[in-house]
Amino acid sequence: MLSRYYKLIITFSFCLFVSSLVLIRVGSDQALSVPKLTAFAFNELTRRNSGPDVADYTCHHLKVGLQVGHWNNQHPPAELSWLVGNTGAYGGGLMEWESNHRIAVAAKQILEKHGIQVDLLEAVVPIRYQAAAFVSIHADGSDTNPSANGFKIAGPERDWSGRSKQLTESIRQKYAQVTKMPEDAHNITQNMTHYYSFSPDRFQHAIDSKTPATLLETGFLSNSGDQHFLIHHPEIPGEGLAQGLILFLDSQPGIDPCL
Ligand SMILES: [Zn+2]
Repeated sequence: MLSRYYKLIITFSFCLFVSSLVLIRVGSDQALSVPKLTAFAFNELTRRNSGPDVADYTCHHLKVGLQVGHWNNQHPPAELSWLVGNTGAYGGGLMEWESNHRIAVAAKQILEKHGIQVDLLEAVVPIRYQAAAFVSIHADGSDTNPSANGFKIAGPERDWSGRSKQLTESIRQKYAQVTKMPEDAHNITQNMTHYYSFSPDRFQHAIDSKTPATLLETGFLSNSGDQHFLIHHPEIPGEGLAQGLILFLDSQPGIDPCL
């Protein structure tokens, strides 16, 4: 009778021992196979677990917004009704929005190869649009001075995010380097520094104040030299813009991909 109890106890202990070994093994495998959470992944998990009011579960990459100036501006909301008919520059057979669009698409292709998500935005941006950076793409034109040429770039006069200046400088540097265009820096206008899409204090359809922003005038559509880039080789200004954005994003290590 006693020996039967002993047998039972020994069998039970053996089973317990074997199951502990299995558990320890599984535990150590898991510990080995689960990588350390990066700050980005941690953010993502926190957001996923933070309740049903968080709508965007798909933000795995840094995202930038490229606004194609004057694109689809024929039916704006009432606050931006003055956009109707504002077609911008014209030259070399292209409307400004067409030139802006080609450059935006070229930049998008390069940025996506670097794992950066790109929103191509129309003249009216979503209400309080958020991204790691926002660039409005435009082109100049002059009816009276066909020799006017060069690019220029300016961020919002009131730098809501505190990082628009750095974004502007990064793109200025790379755009000049890649396109070798001269800079038309003396003709920055209030239309640039007080641009409607930069102004969340005046318009609903504007970027969120946390989003760094800038406006790039890519060159003069009315100038035969600039047309070389804008009309025949939009991939060159597109690359200058993309490289500038990458330079900026690389300088922002703590940036949240879910912005
Ligand atoms: Zn324009």
